[in-house]
Amino acid sequence: MTGRMNIIKPMEQAHVRQKVFSSHSKPLGTIQIDVDDLWVYYESIHRVPPANLPAQVYEQGIARLLDLFARFAVRATFFVCGRDLPVQAHWLREMVRHGHEIANHSTWHRTGFARLSAAEKRADIVTTQVLIEEACGQRPSGFKAPGFSFAPDLLAVLAELGFCYDSTILPMPWAPALRSLQRLLSHGEVDGSHYGRARHGLAPLHPYQPDMAAPHRPRPADQPGQPDFWEAPVTTMPLLRLPMHSTFVLTAGQPLFDAGMMLVQAKGVPVNYLLHAADVIDAVDDPALASYRFLTTAWSEKRPLYEHMLHSLSEQYEIVPTRELIERLATAGQRRKK
Ligand SMILES: [Zn+2]
Repeated sequence: MTGRMNIIKPMEQAHVRQKVFSSHSKPLGTIQIDVDDLWVYYESIHRVPPANLPAQVYEQGIARLLDLFARFAVRATFFVCGRDLPVQAHWLREMVRHGHEIANHSTWHRTGFARLSAAEKRADIVTTQVLIEEACGQRPSGFKAPGFSFAPDLLAVLAELGFCYDSTILPMPWAPALRSLQRLLSHGEVDGSHYGRARHGLAPLHPYQPDMAAPHRPRPADQPGQPDFWEAPVTTMPLLRLPMHSTFVLTAGQPLFDAGMMLVQAKGVPVNYLLHAADVIDAVDDPALASYRFLTTAWSEKRPLYEHMLHSLSEQYEIVPTRELIERLATAGQRRKK
């Protein structure tokens, strides 16, 4: 796709948003699903996962999500970890068969991914690229680091490996405050790079071609020679820039989602809504995971809110894989230049 894409000048990006929307009956949007199996949640709170831990997120969560997405005509992007492969390869083939995109969510879901050296990041990412391609024949063109743990050198690594986009930057400048709050609530450690740096929280809410030297900013129009690479940030609430993805909605309730979506609509943001595959599993019966409210709540309790979110997103947006959204944005940008 590299050859077909072109640079959209920052000043044109607002017009591109409108342009893409006007050529379709609905504006374009994306849903990204981070497929973090239960071992991720144990390790995030510095616990050793129990022996013989079932792969509940794949076996139950993916099956449910594939059904829900078929019902709501959603074609989504699944971010998977190499550590779950090749055991879960058949689920990746199912995702592809249903028209979804597979993207790379690192191999080990390491805490503090931002602090790895560029060479360590590269090795981790390449391992999963190979495992995913072997599993389903699709080589990912998108990446998201675990825990929104973003460092600027990540983009050069991804561009060099031929990736088309990254989704690690969380456009939310309240990362330090949120980390403190989370430390308080979970009585535990929260990594200093979790949710990223406050400065990167000022990034645009729509997909953009980042300035590689200041990745939270679109590249200047007069800077040719930068790689053909996009940042597709997870949507946060416009204006307030509060997180509004499923983890927060399942904790705070439907008003957070409805208020967020109202602002997203009002500001004409092409939504990139983040879900976790663990959202839809049955309640996990282990007090060690009690600080993850969405993991310890019964699916029957979460289901009406989940269906409301998918109904609302699919009613208001044509939900396509992230790569397709970017291709369509790039094509619209090229048309504008002619
Ligand atoms: Zn994750």
